[in-house]
Amino acid sequence: MTWIVQPLQRKAADGSPAGLWHLCANSDEGGGFVNGCDHDHPSAKEAQNCKEALIHLGGVTGFPYEEESDLRVLGVSRDAENGQALMLSLTRVPTDDELRAIHEALRRFRHVAPPEPESIGSTNTFNGA
Ligand SMILES: [Zn+2]
Repeated sequence: MTWIVQPLQRKAADGSPAGLWHLCANSDEGGGFVNGCDHDHPSAKEAQNCKEALIHLGGVTGFPYEEESDLRVLGVSRDAENGQALMLSLTRVPTDDELRAIHEALRRFRHVAPPEPESIGSTNTFNGA
């Protein structure tokens, strides 16, 4: 089953476009039609960015809404030529503040014990400043 999530414009009683938008999910195989929220958004762009609709439709379609600030470490490896250098695989490019927080966290780690790559990858979450 495939879900199509898109902003759709509501129709007025006479069938003409009403100028009010909702983010909706539509299934191709009988999963139904789901309205993301009850707001009347004045534009497709605003409807597309409605957090309430994104959360609701994320639960319906099985693709949970994730905050953009949810920066996570997917993997850690050491540079083969420089054992002091760590390479982090992240869910997105960190902001400058997040980069400073990562550097600070790694600096603190360094004085305790060399971190196990698995423990960093699965437990560290850096949230926005
Ligand atoms: Zn909304």
